[in-house]
Formats: sequence, C-alpha cells, structure tokens
Amino acid sequence: NLEQGPEGRETPIQVVLRVRPMSAVELRRGEQSVLRCSGARTLQVSPPGGGPDLAFRFGAVLDGARTQEDVFRASGVRQLGELALRGLSCTVFTFGQTGSGKTYTLTGPPPQGEGVPVPPSLAGIMQRTFTWLVDRVQHLGVPVTLQASYLEIYNEQVLDLLSLGSPRPLPVRWNKTRGFYVEQLRVVEFGSLEALMELLQIGLSRRRSSAHTLNQASSRSHALLTLYISRQTKPRPHQARNPQSQQMPPVDPGEHPVGGKLCFVDLAGSEKVAATGSRGELMLEANSINRSLLALGHCISLLLDPRRKQSHIPFRDSKLTKLLADSLGGRGVTLMVACVSPSAQCLPETLSTLRYASRAQ
Ligand code: ADP
Ligand code: MG
Repeated sequence: NLEQGPEGRETPIQVVLRVRPMSAVELRRGEQSVLRCSGARTLQVSPPGGGPDLAFRFGAVLDGARTQEDVFRASGVRQLGELALRGLSCTVFTFGQTGSGKTYTLTGPPPQGEGVPVPPSLAGIMQRTFTWLVDRVQHLGVPVTLQASYLEIYNEQVLDLLSLGSPRPLPVRWNKTRGFYVEQLRVVEFGSLEALMELLQIGLSRRRSSAHTLNQASSRSHALLTLYISRQTKPRPHQARNPQSQQMPPVDPGEHPVGGKLCFVDLAGSEKVAATGSRGELMLEANSINRSLLALGHCISLLLDPRRKQSHIPFRDSKLTKLLADSLGGRGVTLMVACVSPSAQCLPETLSTLRYASRAQ
C-alpha cells in the first residue's frame, strides 16, 4: 500500500527507503546492482561473491524506476502536512551517503544551466508539498499565516540561508514557550507559492555557492527549511464569510496557539570519517557531522525504547537534535527517507544506512 502514512503509527518515526537508479558512471564501469525490491515494503540485498541474502522491511521501498511523484505519494508527506495544519511539528529528513539521492529526493536535480528550468516532473518532495500546502490553505477558508526559514548547520554552526547580509553563526536558545529556537533567524512571511519557491531557490543557490561546497565538501552540512503554519485568532472579514471555514481540522482544546511546523532536512552525507580520508579541517567537519548524526541516532533509539519512555532524551547533544526536538520528542511526526545506491561498490555504506534506518522505526 503506497498511500500509507503516519496515521495508525506506533512509533514517532516513519521510514521509507529509496534506491536511486544506477548512474551513467556506475553503468559505464559495469557495476553490479546488489539491491532488489521484493514487494512494496521489503528490500533484498545480495552480497557479491555469495553469502546469504539479507532482507530489510520499511514502510515503503521504492526502486530506481519510481518517479518523484511516486516517492511523494508513497512517503505520505501530505498526511504530515495535515498534522502540521492541526498544530503539530512534523519533520521530513533524507538520510544516506553522499551521492545516494538525498538532495534529488527533496528538491529535484540542479538546473542544467542558467535559465534552464527543471521540468516539473522532476520536482522533489519539497516543491510538491509547497504546491499542496498553499492550495490546501487557500481552500480552508480560514486565515492562515505561512512563514518560512531556511538554515544550514555546518561544523555545529547555524547559518541563515535567507539572511540579508552575509551570514554569521547564530546561537540556538531554549525557552519554555518556544522550546529550542535560533536567535535572529530570518523568518519570512510568504503570500504565494511563487514567493515560497523563490525562497527555496535563494537558499539552494547559496548552498551551492558557499565556500565549503566549492571545497569538495558538498554534502557536509545539514540544511533545514521550516514552514510555520499559524492560524490567526481574529478572522479576516472577507475570509470569515467563507462557508468552508468548518473544514479546518479540529484543534485539541487547551493547546497553546495553533502553530504547526513542517520542516524539511537535507542531512549531511552519512559516510564514515575513515571513508573520506579527512584530515585537519575536514576532519573537524566530519566529526561534527558524525556528532549530529550520532546524536540523532542516539535520541531516536532512546525514544523508541519502551523501557526508557520516561528517561531523559539528550537533544542538547547537537544543534541538529535541538532543532528537531519538538518533532522527534514532543507532539510531532517524523518521516525519514533513507536513500541508497544500488551499486555493489557502495554496499558497505548502504548496509550502514539500512541498519540506521531499520533501527529508527
Ligand atoms: P546526495 O544529496 O545524497 O549527495 P544527490 O541528490 O546529489 O545525492 O544525487 C547524486 C546524483 O544522482 C545527482 O546527479 C542526482 O541528480 C542523481 N540522482 C539521484 N537520485 C536520482 C534519481 N532517483 N533519478 C535520477 N537521478 C538521480
Ligand atoms: Mg546533497
């Protein structure tokens, strides 16, 4: 069932697995595929040179023949959007080694040249969710304020991808009403789909041109785009008359002002430090990436362990886990899209992605 989503879930994390197609380079090298989907939810791994097959089960498994639209539907992101409209904090993140398709899955391929538009069929989960959300809000008939922020976590420093001046590291703070938040982060209200798409493009092009990207270290930062969805308490006159206003999803009484969030996270590559041959500065980067990803894995495993339900979850261990704390631990839903390459060459990293993803569900 490809349409299954977060409804009826038993854990706070849904996991979907996407296998990208073999790349032209991999095909030219004659690399073997070692992954095969068996049914809609099982991935079969056949290690080269014999050895028993391994099987991994996820909420959905999508092979290289699946389109961007297939992935959008199968991952149930619209259900997350509905929950965010009801005031929950929801997160979608992609996880996997560099080159496994994380950025492609969230935002589609990069443009092939200046002024060459990416075909709409290749738009990623983010653009598809934006289109869905703006349309959904327009048809609700109640006034909703939509805002967005876009930041990057690099070497445990938070940088604002929408900042007006040159970005400088911003502190992450905590208070009782807001939980963890980034001080002085630019949060932009957008009134149309076009305006939101433009914010995405600004952030994406800043990511592509930032110093560390040029430094061959393209996948060393985590990028978080957050949509803030808030219902205004005083209806606007022209919208208050709209008879469709009952369609707004109900809100739990006693909740504090409806402020849902939908966050999209393009995580840094999950490959091990050793595999990158990092030294010096790059080593520092690799350590802080691992620190965030290890902290994320640690928080998730504590959240999932029934015996430790009441125990302290160490969200403070990294910037990433601080900023994801409300969707992981509070009233939220998290969707992980684990991305892997089918090639035998990538098998060691693929297995570590599969194990991390399996443990998370
Ligand atoms: P990551 O963000 O995990 O490092 P990318 O998303 O940049 O990986 O993908 C690596 C390369 O593979 C890019 O050239 C991308 O366009 C291509 N690619 C990834 N997934 C797919 C897919 N499902 N179909 C076609 N090309 C893909
Ligand atoms: Mg990427």
